Amino acid sequence: MAESTPIPEIEVADVWRLLDERVLALGPERLPLAQAVGRYLAEEIKNDANQPPFDRSAMDGYAFIPASGPATFHIVGTVKAGEVAVRTLQPGDALRIFTGAALPIPGMAVLMQEEARVEGEWLHVNRRVEPGENVRAQGSDARQGEVLLAAKSFLGPVELALLASVGAVQPLVGPAPRVAHATTGDEIVSPAVTPGPGQIRNSNQVLIRALLEGLMPATNIQQEHWGDDPVGAAARLAAEPFASADVVLISGGASVGDHDYAARILERAGYELPIRKINSRPGRPLIVGFRGKQIAFGLPGNPVSHFVCYHLFVHHALRLLRGLKRTNSQPLALLEPLRDCADRRPTYWPAKLELDAATRLPAVRPLQWNNSGHLAGLVGAQALFCVPANTKELPAGSRVDTLFIYRG
Ligand code: AMP
Ligand code: MG
Repeated sequence: MAESTPIPEIEVADVWRLLDERVLALGPERLPLAQAVGRYLAEEIKNDANQPPFDRSAMDGYAFIPASGPATFHIVGTVKAGEVAVRTLQPGDALRIFTGAALPIPGMAVLMQEEARVEGEWLHVNRRVEPGENVRAQGSDARQGEVLLAAKSFLGPVELALLASVGAVQPLVGPAPRVAHATTGDEIVSPAVTPGPGQIRNSNQVLIRALLEGLMPATNIQQEHWGDDPVGAAARLAAEPFASADVVLISGGASVGDHDYAARILERAGYELPIRKINSRPGRPLIVGFRGKQIAFGLPGNPVSHFVCYHLFVHHALRLLRGLKRTNSQPLALLEPLRDCADRRPTYWPAKLELDAATRLPAVRPLQWNNSGHLAGLVGAQALFCVPANTKELPAGSRVDTLFIYRG
């Protein structure tokens, strides 16, 4: 179908600028600790007490106030972790002590049990022992009131454990955007069935689910498949989960063919569509729309374009919704030459990341992909680098602008 007015091709950097301007962070929420994995902290967490909270033994052994040289001590009691020694100690007294137990008075030391010579109630120490030996002093790891985790820290397992250690059981965390995703196309069938003539298995559906759940665990996703029927699709778009999702994603049908309805139904549903096409490949048809606080993306259905456009735009929009900044590209060296790569548009080229043996810096190894449908060419992709427009070839060692495909 001929286009009446040509649709402008927007530069990738201009799409990013628009997302930066238009995508506003969703509000934070308080969550039980165990549900907060994969979120970002939306507050600063300080130590509620000194860490350790009391002088404690680092060893199983004997605790005493050291003498100036070899000495014999009277073992007057035992203290294990969780107990507090109640009796007052006289000079020359020692306590049997276990790892983690609190030392009752300042200035004590602990002699490891392997070093101790014990006869009945008597402990013989045959060397000079310094005060504080084998003692984890109160506040030696962190002081009360000190910042333990800065706002915007990613909450992985260690960070959750750290929050637990200071009693922050309901942390204020960044939101989990709600994503409603539809794959489209009459030719698309479930991956579980053998495709009939002209049919294609749905690979984009699991791709999006895995991208969200694997790389951005704090997202809620609901998915369905729509046929090439714009009336039915429009009805689904008006219903939940699409009606109120933070992000509406439509895979396929983003171009201007007779059956490409994504732009039409989004516009009719009240989305403003400042982007319909981009000046880059793979994935020229790309729709970005806004309706109130909702964002819609129409992604090209071809698997390589689909993957690249997700990373270039959807991933960044989700970061912005989560209250983070978009990530910038890094200049990295190319590990092998890239030949015959000329195109009149910039190309975002899938690549692996490797350490450059000479510089010990991360560098990129281009993947071999033949066309925007060549899904097998993407295996191992960890980054996308930009080949500027009209570049015939890039020699090994060239610096290329690289976006990492990473968690968060
Ligand atoms: P479209 O963007 O709808 O024009 O589709 C472009 C190409 O991508 C066509 O060859 C489709 O068959 C293919 N395609 C579309 N959706 C999917 C999908 N969910 N999984 C795999 N391939 C797809
Ligand atoms: Mg289609």
